[in-house]
Amino acid sequence: MAKALRSTRVLTPAGLAPATIIVERERISAVRGWNDVPPGAEFFDFGDSVLLPGLVDSHVHINEPGRTEWEGFQTATQAAAAGGVTTLVDMPLNCVPETIDVRALEVKRKAAQGKAWVDWAAWGGVVRGNAEALEQLARAGVAGFKCFLVHSGIDGFAWVDEADLRAALGNLRGSGLPLLAHAELVGPVDIATGKLNRVGADWRKYSTYLASRPDSAEVDAIALLIRLAEEFSTPIHIVHLSSARALPLLAEARRHGLPITVETCPHYLWIAAEEIPDGATEYKCAPAIRQAENRERLWKALENGLIDMVTTDHSPCPPAMKRRDEGRWDRAWGGIASLGLALPAIWTGMQKRGLKLERIGEWMAAAPARLAGLTGRKGTLAPGADADIAVFDPDAAWTVTPADLHFRHKLSPYLGAELRGRVIETWLRGEPVFRAGKFIGETRGREQVRLPERACG
Ligand SMILES: [Zn+2]
Repeated sequence: MAKALRSTRVLTPAGLAPATIIVERERISAVRGWNDVPPGAEFFDFGDSVLLPGLVDSHVHINEPGRTEWEGFQTATQAAAAGGVTTLVDMPLNCVPETIDVRALEVKRKAAQGKAWVDWAAWGGVVRGNAEALEQLARAGVAGFKCFLVHSGIDGFAWVDEADLRAALGNLRGSGLPLLAHAELVGPVDIATGKLNRVGADWRKYSTYLASRPDSAEVDAIALLIRLAEEFSTPIHIVHLSSARALPLLAEARRHGLPITVETCPHYLWIAAEEIPDGATEYKCAPAIRQAENRERLWKALENGLIDMVTTDHSPCPPAMKRRDEGRWDRAWGGIASLGLALPAIWTGMQKRGLKLERIGEWMAAAPARLAGLTGRKGTLAPGADADIAVFDPDAAWTVTPADLHFRHKLSPYLGAELRGRVIETWLRGEPVFRAGKFIGETRGREQVRLPERACG
C-alpha cells in the first residue's frame, strides 16, 4: 500500500511549501499538493513540522571493525537516525584493518551486517604505497578515497606527500571518484610544534594547541591540492576546512572552474577558540578550532556557496584517551563526537545569522550526496529518490544532556549546549526508524555501492 506523508512545510528542490509525499516500495513516487492525498494510501499528517530530506553525512568515523570499543555501526547509526541522518559515509582509517584494499572492505561489510540503522557507504584510503590497490577498491564500490597530508594518528594509515598524491591521482583519473584530503601539511605543523616544545610551552593551554596547527598548514596544503586538481582534472574535496585564510585561494580555483569542493563542520561554525577552556580536550580536533572572527568568515563562505557542505567529522574515542585529568592537548586523542547534533547546532547558528532553513537541504543532504555519488537516490525529496525523511521541529528549544547522545561514549563539547530545533522522527526508505526518542523496527540499513564512471587510469 502507498503511504502519504503530509506537512505544511516540505523541503523539496522547489523550496519549502505545503505538500504530500507519496511513498511506494521504499521510494518517493510523487510529490503532490497538500490537499491531494490519494484515497487508500496510509496517511501520516505531520502538521506544521518540517519534512526535510534525510540528511547525508559524508564524514563519519565508525571505527568498526577493530575499534568497536571507540564506536560501532550499531551506536553510530542510531546516533545518526536520532539526528535525521539517513546515510553515513565511513572514513577508512579508524577501523582495523584500514580500508586500503578490497580485503579490508569485505571485512567491513561483514562487520556492518545486521547492525546499521541507516544506510551507509565506505570511503577507501589512499596511503603511502597503495596506489596499485585503488582501481580494485574503486571497482568494489567505494564512494571515493581519503588521504592525509599530515600524521593521521593511526599507524596503519600513513600520510602522503606530493609524489604519492601524483601516483594516486594518476590511477584515479577518469574514474569520476573524488579524492578527499585532510588538508594540513606536515611541515608547518611539525615546525610549529617543535618551536613550542623548545620554549617549554604549556600544553594545558588551548592557545598552545592552536599555535601548533597554524593556518599556513591548511593554506599551503590547499594550494598544493588546487594545483593537482588542475593538473589531473580529477575531483578533489577538502574535508573539514577550519582556516578562513584558505578561502581566497578556493574562490580563485572556483573561478577557474577547477573540480574542487569543500566542507566544514559544525564545531568550526559553533565553537570559537576564545570559548575553549584550557585542558578541555573534548574540544580537540584537527585542524584546530580557530577564533570567532575566523568562524564568522566560514559562515559567510557557507552562505555565499564557496563552502559546499557541512559534515560532522564525528570521531569519538574512549573517554580515557582524552586524558581529561591531565588536560594536555598534545597527549589527548583528537576528534569531536557530534553525530546526531549537527542539524540543531547548524540551525541554531543559522537563526543567529538570519539564514533560511531551506539552505539545510543543499548543505547537509544534496551536496554530500553528490560527493558520494548518490545524487537522485539520496539527499532530496523528489520522485525516484529513496523515501528518507527527517521530521524536524525547528522551534523546539532544548539543552544537550548525556541522555540525548546516542553514540557509544557520552563525551562531547556539545553537552550543555542550548539548541533550537529537534528531530522528531526519521524515516529510512519508507519506514520510520526513529520516533519520539526511540528506535523502532529493525536494522534495515544497507550499503550504498558506487560504481566508477569508467575504468581508472
Ligand atoms: Zn575525519
